[in-house]
Amino acid sequence: MFNGGYLGKILRVNLGTKEISTETIEEKIYHKLLGGRGLAAKYYYEEVGADVKPFDEANKIFMFAGPLTGLTLPAPTKYQLCTKAPETGHYLCSNSSGKMGIMLKKMGYDGLILEGKCNDWTYLHIKDGKIEFKDASAHVGKMTNVAMDDLKEEVGNKKASVLTIGPAAENLVKISYVCVDTRAFGRGGAGAVFASKKIKAIVTEGTGAIPASEPDKLLEIRKKAFPILRETRPNHTKYGTSQYISVINELGCMPTRNFQTTYFEGGDKVDHLTLHNKYLKGNVACTQCPVACGTMAKVYEGKYKGAEARTEYESIGLLGPNCGVDDFGAIVAANQLCDEIGLDTMSSANIIAFGMELFEKGLITKEDTCGIELKFGNGDALIEGLKKIASREGIFDLLADGSLGVLEKHPEWKPYLVHVKGMSPAAYDSRGFYGNGLTYGTSSRGACHNVGGWTIRAELQSGQFDRFALEGKGELVKEIQDNRAYVDSLGICTVVRGSMEFSASPKGDTMKAATGYDFMPELLEIGSRIYTLERLILNREGLKRAGDMLPDRFLKEAVPSGPIKGQILTEEMYNQMLDDYYDARGWGRDGVVKQETVDDFGLAEVVNL
Ligand code: SF4
Repeated sequence: MFNGGYLGKILRVNLGTKEISTETIEEKIYHKLLGGRGLAAKYYYEEVGADVKPFDEANKIFMFAGPLTGLTLPAPTKYQLCTKAPETGHYLCSNSSGKMGIMLKKMGYDGLILEGKCNDWTYLHIKDGKIEFKDASAHVGKMTNVAMDDLKEEVGNKKASVLTIGPAAENLVKISYVCVDTRAFGRGGAGAVFASKKIKAIVTEGTGAIPASEPDKLLEIRKKAFPILRETRPNHTKYGTSQYISVINELGCMPTRNFQTTYFEGGDKVDHLTLHNKYLKGNVACTQCPVACGTMAKVYEGKYKGAEARTEYESIGLLGPNCGVDDFGAIVAANQLCDEIGLDTMSSANIIAFGMELFEKGLITKEDTCGIELKFGNGDALIEGLKKIASREGIFDLLADGSLGVLEKHPEWKPYLVHVKGMSPAAYDSRGFYGNGLTYGTSSRGACHNVGGWTIRAELQSGQFDRFALEGKGELVKEIQDNRAYVDSLGICTVVRGSMEFSASPKGDTMKAATGYDFMPELLEIGSRIYTLERLILNREGLKRAGDMLPDRFLKEAVPSGPIKGQILTEEMYNQMLDDYYDARGWGRDGVVKQETVDDFGLAEVVNL
């Protein structure tokens, strides 16, 4: 019996009929799938069929908190969104901070399911479980920051949590994101799913207490964790994730000019020291997080003066080096624009970089680009291009449909499109460390470094693995993915996990204090179960081994210059790692989950397969 952490209830809202219902969750489901990402995958499996398209009324949005979300712990802010993704046409799981997960739990719910579609632009105001459908027409067209402030004022509570979309999503841009307070569900185009349902925003206010099994013990755990984090994460606090720019660039793994090469000659102009010395405004933190890894950058002089944005490694790497831009001011301005207009910085930067390559190759001209000189290194062109993606003008209307949209109209441009399952990669080039290729290929949502697994420490920093070796990478990637799947289901940030002993060999104290049950030794097995459930979804949606293939650029082109000049990850090499990975997972070498694996995980006991 759990006596804390979980609330055992979910809220279901039909946007068309305005029917609202509460459902209970059986305890055995938490035992097998933990929470957050695990629960979202279960409901998606049961309720969103393979033939449902992202913008169909039948597509749904699942948002689930974890057992630790909102408790007295470091950074208990995470919760999970799951839907069919416009960018990929497949399953999407996405993880965010922000206060909404905490608010849901304060209202007594572990999750919220949105189904159907509103007739007119609406925002939901959910206050202590009472739901109002409110007219959002006055907020349509507003930038995310403006909508957020105005909605807080409208409900009369500056501390309310606001999830909102921007103009890009309203225009059904398939790489649009969902803004939640100061954080985001970034990837996959979930913003456009909200827009397809005519939901501009969700405002939540919860005031109840979240029960915990041993509140005093949780306080003790938090007290111990804070100094550990200060000691072990000083660079996160000082530089945020920008600390990795120079490391990744020097090792020759930095996507440069649409992944054409892997070392950016202007790296020192866009690295953590540049940010820290010339552009730093201050740090921001998610709720109850002592690390405060969010580095707010501000441009103090020059033509982008006044621009400010929370800058992260991925956004800097892709808006900067991958677009050939070495002007940090332009990167900050582009980042701010994406955040406010509602674009995923990563996919938007990548698709602009692709457009730049087309332009430089003469495959598109100024006539296509609304007069923009779309060349690598042109910061103004980057910013103007992003605006045109959001408003869907010229060639940017096509780019707004993401890699798969482009491919459908121009299959001949395949060699220049860098993506897996339709999602473009994070700011790492797999030719520089091979396990990274496997993470992109086998991630449940496309070429992603979070869900797919962050192998930087293992392959580039620890000395434990040869980055160009193939052996051992299958098992390594599986382990990292399983770790991430269980942490995403707990409701805490991956950066702080170690301070509560949620590592590769987790301990059960925190779960015991939160829920009354320690989840030992099964946490890692749960991560693996969730990953296999997500794979069952992908299999049902038609994705098998071929869907795990890497882009031509990684498999067919050797790196032409820089520290890893000549390096390539051929299809044959990749396939060797992929075989090992499937074996480690208990999936067939066709990429399909074996029935015996489904049985071993007991999935049929908790999912209506
Ligand atoms: S480590 Fe960074 S991302 Fe994680 S909770 Fe803290 S501030 Fe947020």
